[in-house]
Amino acid sequence: MIDVKSLKINDLIDFFEQNNLPKFRAKQVYEWLWKKNVSDFEQMKNLPKNIRALLAQNFTINCIRITYQIKSKIDNSTKFAFATGDNLYIEGVLIPSSNNKRVTACISTQVGCPLGCKFCATGTMGFRRNLTAAEIYEQVFLLNQQAQTIYNRKLTNIVVMGMGEPLLNYDNLITALDFVTSKNGLEMSPSRITVSSVGLVKQIRKLADDKHRFNLAISLHNAIDSERSDFMPVNKKNNLHELIEALKYFYQKTGKRITFEYLLIHGITDTLRHAKALSEFCKNFPSKINLIEFNPVQHIDYQRSNPEDIKKFYDYIANKNLVVTIRRSKGQDINAACGQLAIRKQK
Ligand code: SF4
Repeated sequence: MIDVKSLKINDLIDFFEQNNLPKFRAKQVYEWLWKKNVSDFEQMKNLPKNIRALLAQNFTINCIRITYQIKSKIDNSTKFAFATGDNLYIEGVLIPSSNNKRVTACISTQVGCPLGCKFCATGTMGFRRNLTAAEIYEQVFLLNQQAQTIYNRKLTNIVVMGMGEPLLNYDNLITALDFVTSKNGLEMSPSRITVSSVGLVKQIRKLADDKHRFNLAISLHNAIDSERSDFMPVNKKNNLHELIEALKYFYQKTGKRITFEYLLIHGITDTLRHAKALSEFCKNFPSKINLIEFNPVQHIDYQRSNPEDIKKFYDYIANKNLVVTIRRSKGQDINAACGQLAIRKQK
């Protein structure tokens, strides 16, 4: 049967008209599905019984559900495993700021990932499928509820930085984020949402052309072209020169400063040679650099940088008058590196 959440509002109106029912009923159903995220037609209390039965005869409501959660004792972040209707596992994280004024949700867009970055647990899973727009939206909805239960406040920010490459699932991502920001959904400001990509140049230009007001982060992790291609195979078809041009274009069109995520991995990305390449790369546009300590991942043979190398790297970048911060990896005690919990649950 068709998942009713895969229908656009006009499809739902057509269905009601074909069944000689008034179209305002379609709008009521839409509100139950997206604004209230119900999982059963029987919960749609303002619909007559015969309409609820008609819907149940023709459609299902596929919902994701939280199957596991664990809170870090180190930094208070909470990691969640979600199961999809077809029993695949994805993960999301709630990250409170240290003063508890902000709670950020990190969400996933794919089950697994086809891009195979060498440092990434999700990359070792291979690719299963894209998440639907509803599955992406529901993560935000459920994490918003959890934020209120656990941290006593609503979500303030969203980063699309969990499992998968968001721009490979462009249409579903945008549909989901449109609900997150619209009156039919959670009414969050687009400026509170950051989409993170490893750097797909065609889609970055599309994001700029489509005039979305989300922020863009690039998981750069290495600014030396030949090394990045080896480390992140996506770079072979989206090399750094093309990426620079696409990001300049994004900045021209949106006026938004670009954030760069940069993992510090011992001997692989953390030498002064790498710092020099990173600073040259980031001079091309207004940018902010987040240096991230690598969280060791099972079966991946990389080590975190030592504190002296981190300091040298940071000082080099800061001395170039670039905006740079060092982020501690969140949730080191709860398998917080992207994909680790979902892999465990899938097994
Ligand atoms: Fe995919 Fe992102 Fe992991 Fe690379 S880092 S394999 S793009 S999920």
